Amino acid sequence: MSRLVIVSNRVTVPEKGGAAPAGGLAVALRAALEERGGVWMGWSGKSSGVREPAPLDIKVHGNITYALTDLTKTDVEEYYHGFANRVLWPICHYRLDLAEYGRKEMAGYFRVNRFFAQRLAPLIEKDDIIWVHDYHLIPLASELRQMGLKNKIGFFLHIPWPPADVLFTMPVHEQIMRGLSQYDLVGFQTVHDLDNFGGGLVREGIGERLDDNKFSTYGRTFKGGFYSISIETKEFAEFARKAASNVMVRKARQSVEGRNLIIGVDRLDYSKGITQRIDAFERFITTNPAHQNKVTYLQITPKSRSEVPEYEQMQRTVAEQAGRVNGAIGTVDWVPIRYINRSVARPVLAGLYRLARIGLVTPLRDGMNLVAKEYVAAQDPDDPGVLVLSRFAGAARELTGALLVNPYDIEGTAHAIARGLTMSLEERKQRWEKMMDHLLKHDINRWCDDFLQDLARS
Ligand code: UDP
Repeated sequence: MSRLVIVSNRVTVPEKGGAAPAGGLAVALRAALEERGGVWMGWSGKSSGVREPAPLDIKVHGNITYALTDLTKTDVEEYYHGFANRVLWPICHYRLDLAEYGRKEMAGYFRVNRFFAQRLAPLIEKDDIIWVHDYHLIPLASELRQMGLKNKIGFFLHIPWPPADVLFTMPVHEQIMRGLSQYDLVGFQTVHDLDNFGGGLVREGIGERLDDNKFSTYGRTFKGGFYSISIETKEFAEFARKAASNVMVRKARQSVEGRNLIIGVDRLDYSKGITQRIDAFERFITTNPAHQNKVTYLQITPKSRSEVPEYEQMQRTVAEQAGRVNGAIGTVDWVPIRYINRSVARPVLAGLYRLARIGLVTPLRDGMNLVAKEYVAAQDPDDPGVLVLSRFAGAARELTGALLVNPYDIEGTAHAIARGLTMSLEERKQRWEKMMDHLLKHDINRWCDDFLQDLARS
């Protein structure tokens, strides 16, 4: 079996004692690396004002070598905050109105990818298989190929891929497409993203879609595929079962005082549809007065990317909105929305999901959305809750037992909340079993194995 080399913007190196448990993705990738032996390379998260960052920080744990690089402050500003998070992220989430193109940032993105390639190349052996992750590193294969590397290189995009009309608003879209063509396998989350990619190539006249999801463009033929990322389903269900005794979960149960709990969990991000969701909750209460004082909506929203102005602004908007709605519909003995602007550990989240009668997951656009899958895995099989899920989340293609909503349709979402709260136990069980069955079969290890198998065959 070939050695595996994983490259991602950030790397989770196992830390001794007290560190937060790694998420499903990190655990699965580490397992794949441990089995084959290999390297995981990425940014250390540190930056400095120096011109040339320190040499790679190498840490060896068992069969895995972690190789971390620092970046300069300018690199982080241009490559990470600038191009990755202010151009690629909004574009891939269909928000071309929020994309901020700057030549400096675009150049920084390609420069840092070259820098990653230069640092990575000396670590690569002839038969290594290389797996590159996510939108930060699209041009990496192209840089490695220019240095003469002939290894198999695969790419997986964790976020959506937009349709041609959205993609083409990005001035460097052609370089990005060309970058993707240098891989042997390009993996997307859903068939919809894969079709958007193929459609873009054909529309622009820069490539052809062949049989068996092969693409031919820029003088290369490569394979595309879709691999829906998932969670460690069995382990997560176990977290949830055990979490009943967790202090925070017990406190939460006491404090809802027998009311139905509705839960939303999202990083603070404009793609998550949080403001539309709060509007839908308010509409639900005003149109269903019988539910007044009978439900609590808990929204857990850790801050993210506060360096980007849109995110900083959004932090204020959501806090104000939650306050306004509480003021408008709350009563002396009832606070309808509890808004937490901090991160909660996954094992505790598992317990909170299990307490909640409704999981409200309504992104405007999402590559997959793991919260939706976690909510399902955490339910009590004898009394499962209802997932209300945006049809624009990648997960909607698999979780067909959810109540699917259009998050832009406030009334429709309000109606789904009401429907979920009054759904019979029999229907809840039926819907849940179908989804749980699917998640047990399609967990994170299956995702990882499927991708690596296809890459090895490509
Ligand atoms: N998460 C967490 N603590 C929080 C909020 C979220 O650990 O306070 C985790 C959550 O359990 C999930 C991940 O963060 O595993 C979010 O993944 P998702 O695909 O839903 O969204 P992303 O943030 O990657 O866009």
